[in-house]
Amino acid sequence: MLHVKNISFGYTKTKVLETIDFKVNSGENTAIIGESGSGKSTLLKLIYGEYDLTQGEIFWKGQQILGPKYNLVVGYDFIKYVTQEFDLMPFTTVEDNIGKHLSRFFPKEKQQRTDELIKVVELEAFAKTKVKTLSGGQKQRVALARALAKQPEILLLDEPFSHIDNFKKQSLRRSVFNYLKEKQIACVVATHNKGDVLGFADKMLVLENKKIIAQDTPINLYNNPKTPLVASFFGEFNSIEPYGIVYAHQLKIVKQSHLKAIVKQAYFNGNDWLIEALLNKQTIFFQHNKALDSKTFVFLEISI
Ligand code: ADP
Ligand code: MG
Repeated sequence: MLHVKNISFGYTKTKVLETIDFKVNSGENTAIIGESGSGKSTLLKLIYGEYDLTQGEIFWKGQQILGPKYNLVVGYDFIKYVTQEFDLMPFTTVEDNIGKHLSRFFPKEKQQRTDELIKVVELEAFAKTKVKTLSGGQKQRVALARALAKQPEILLLDEPFSHIDNFKKQSLRRSVFNYLKEKQIACVVATHNKGDVLGFADKMLVLENKKIIAQDTPINLYNNPKTPLVASFFGEFNSIEPYGIVYAHQLKIVKQSHLKAIVKQAYFNGNDWLIEALLNKQTIFFQHNKALDSKTFVFLEISI
């Protein structure tokens, strides 16, 4: 189990993270979400042992993870970290990058393992391609496979699919996260993309103002977002008194109600339309199965 015990940290005197405390078991997927600058990457770096903590301790299975003050070489064998800047060997092929740290005394096993990982990140067609000719998204996938090569016990991922296009993203997420579960690798993913979280994370931590403001399963946080920041992560929402947070899809047009709104604009949204409207001078959003003309009056009901 990874145990982040009440840690605080700042690059300068100003703290970036304060009294952060959570646990991650083997095979568990924990997502860290929060706005840009909220400290997601910093938290991953601290778990990796890249900086010395101001306060608190971090343990993996009873072993303390220490920073550079106590360690000549940063990092541990059981933990791998895929940063936002994946530093690969550009003039070397995809498979050589992935197999780099695998023993060359077992060439058959090395090849098998490399092939298996190339499949996990769906790069079969590029095994013999030099990394420098790959796109950003493809490089990101090579970095992921390389991190998995030596079977870490914990994998830290910093916005792992941010460079990957929507055509590939869905299947790649399933492939990678299923692989981690199968191998019981603990995973901490920093992201601002709900697609990386829903359907995969066992637990979500929400960072705001240096602290964890919510910590629960994605389902519980979705159903009870508590703060606008948490709700905004999941989708378009409104704060309507006295009901509180109401997602756009929870507002339905009905024949008659006491919530009367006037349509401002309609945005095509794929499965439906997102309608922007005014309700008592407040801008609100709701979903509807077709576009509505501006200035149309509608009555709305909240379905929970
Ligand atoms: P996130 O990953 O959530 O976008 P970061 O962890 O990168 O956030 O940054 C958190 C805060 O720490 C920001 O205010 C950022 O400017 C600051 N910061 C990040 N890295 C450094 C650094 N190496 N030196 C000083 N300040 C930093
Ligand atoms: Mg970051």
